[in-house]
Amino acid sequence: MEPQQRSPLLEVRGNVELKRPLVKAPSRLPLPGTRFKRGPDRMEDALEPEKKRTRGLDTVTKIATSHPRPPALTVRPQTQSQTTAPKVPKKTGPRCSTAIGTVLKKQKPDPAVPAQKPGAAAPPTLGGKKPTKRPAWDLKGQLCDLNAELKCCRERTQTLNQENQQLQDQLKEAQQQARVLGAECRTLEGELARVQAQAEQGQQELGNLRARVLELEEQLGTQQGLVQELQKEQVGLQEERRGLAARLEEQERRLQASEVALSGSQAEVASLRQEAATQATLLVAQGERLHGLEMERRRLHNQLQELKGNIRVFCRVRPVLPGEPTPSPGFLLFPSGPGGSSDTPTRLSISRSDERRGTLSGTPAPTTRHDFSFDRVFPPGSGQDQVFEEIAMLVQSALDGYPVCIFAYGQTGSGKTFTMEGGPGGDPQVEGLIPRALRHLFSVAQELGGQGWTYSFVASYVEIYNETVRDLLATGTRKGQGSECEIRRAGPGSEELTVTNARYVPVSCEKEVEALLQLARQNRAVARTSQNERSSRSHSVFQLQISGEHAGRGLQCAAPLSLVDLAGSERLDPGLALGPGERERLRETQAINSSLSTLGLVIMALSNKESHVPYRNSKLTYLLQNSLGGSAKMLMFVNISPLEENVSESLNSLRFASKVNQCVIGTAQANRK
Ligand code: ADP
Ligand code: MG
Repeated sequence: MEPQQRSPLLEVRGNVELKRPLVKAPSRLPLPGTRFKRGPDRMEDALEPEKKRTRGLDTVTKIATSHPRPPALTVRPQTQSQTTAPKVPKKTGPRCSTAIGTVLKKQKPDPAVPAQKPGAAAPPTLGGKKPTKRPAWDLKGQLCDLNAELKCCRERTQTLNQENQQLQDQLKEAQQQARVLGAECRTLEGELARVQAQAEQGQQELGNLRARVLELEEQLGTQQGLVQELQKEQVGLQEERRGLAARLEEQERRLQASEVALSGSQAEVASLRQEAATQATLLVAQGERLHGLEMERRRLHNQLQELKGNIRVFCRVRPVLPGEPTPSPGFLLFPSGPGGSSDTPTRLSISRSDERRGTLSGTPAPTTRHDFSFDRVFPPGSGQDQVFEEIAMLVQSALDGYPVCIFAYGQTGSGKTFTMEGGPGGDPQVEGLIPRALRHLFSVAQELGGQGWTYSFVASYVEIYNETVRDLLATGTRKGQGSECEIRRAGPGSEELTVTNARYVPVSCEKEVEALLQLARQNRAVARTSQNERSSRSHSVFQLQISGEHAGRGLQCAAPLSLVDLAGSERLDPGLALGPGERERLRETQAINSSLSTLGLVIMALSNKESHVPYRNSKLTYLLQNSLGGSAKMLMFVNISPLEENVSESLNSLRFASKVNQCVIGTAQANRK
């Protein structure tokens, strides 16, 4: 659609027409075939000479026709003038005739013309009157006529000169006008060029506008397509809206129904809340009761443990291993005696044949039977679970804030490590006391969590060899080498003991404990390559610091659980010759014997309530200082080999254990704050 636009050129022309009225104004420049248009006043002026000329011409013509005379100022013989009509010179145009006419016209009313004398020949009539022909004799008249005519001619010449002057003025004026018009023309030409340039520019703009129009039309087309799409979309949306409105209605209906249900529910909730409040009150009362019961349980539990004895000794006999000689029947017996049954034996009989006496007399060697009685005896067939069952309650005392210490005592190969850590292969059946005790503690701690108790456990595992302490949980560069550790008080005035350079690892699950035991095994294995059978000559002390807190009641308890795998209790046969290696072994053995006997002495001193307890006489007793003594509960496993060849060591161990078993350490007290 092309807009109906007015051409800029046209506009410019229009403007020019409007702005420059001079162009339209009547020009005074004479144009061929046209007359100047002049104002009415000037028209008259212009017409006036014309009229005059016409009249003059008429007069001249009349004169010429009526008086054939020679041209003015020349006197010609009358004959000639009579016969030949005076010819108007061709050069004299209408203007000249007009001038003559004008002169003649003016001559008529001119009062300067002298009046003819009366009686003189009648003067020639001018202005259409036939001149009176003078007779040839009337020379005076003729002369008079000629004089008049001469005068007339002179006047006319003057008039013509004046007119000439006027015309020259007019010419000048016209030339000036021509110049002005020329300038105007040039201005107009310039303007025309400008207008043309503008027109061209306008054309160009028009072209651009057309292109723009086309572009816009295209855009319009696209927009229209879009509009159609939008309209379609709108239709779709309207449908969707209708659908949504329907759904909204449905939802509103449901909401109303829900609100009704809600108000019902709220009433129910209110009643339930009331019930809950009642239940909460009841729960608080129950909690109080439970706490009272828990404290009562702890008291009774402790009482039971005390009744069982704060120092208890369990004897465990390991089975005969494949490849080992079967002991003679009756070598080890587990008689059921008072306080014991066949299921839970407490007694053990071991027979030793006196070979020397038999050899000397030549009769079968007599046997001596040694009877021992302990808190519990585990025959070779007893499983790890059975053993642990017996100590689970004791271990639990540690959660109640009583220090607990469990030893494994016996000669090398009697099953101490098997009892404490477990058998090889990671079989759960042969898991030892350490993993079982910790699992039990974690599970009971979790149960107590329901009553508001929170527990934390930190484990350490050290080895005491030849009176030096080494960390079994060392990692990295310290691994295996075991930088020297010292036993120190945790702080000035503190009762708590700590091992410098040793790792104290927080544990919360069995996997972490298993990882620590594995690390300890690795560290021992590394050490074993450099020092033969070192593990059997060192004490392994696994300690677990247990801390419990009941935030609600502001209760706290803390106690260590110590699980000690003691060094082999065997003694060197004093009758054997000592080589250089043996001497070293003797020194080790003396150190072991010394620490074990110190342990015995400490237990004795505690039992006898002596003022001085020689804890510091060995690293072992020093480290276990807080796990022994008044408030502690102690259990010693005496591990026995089932082999006859080990009977001597077995008897030594059993005797040591019996001595310990006779000890009674004062009433245990929980470390409560
Ligand atoms: P110790 O630590 O006293 O030197 P070990 O615990 O290393 O003795 O036991 C020596 C051997 O006897 C090991 O091979 C161990 O597996 C085995 N053993 C010890 N006690 C038992 C047991 N109750 N049941 C099965 N095997 C045992
Ligand atoms: Mg061992």
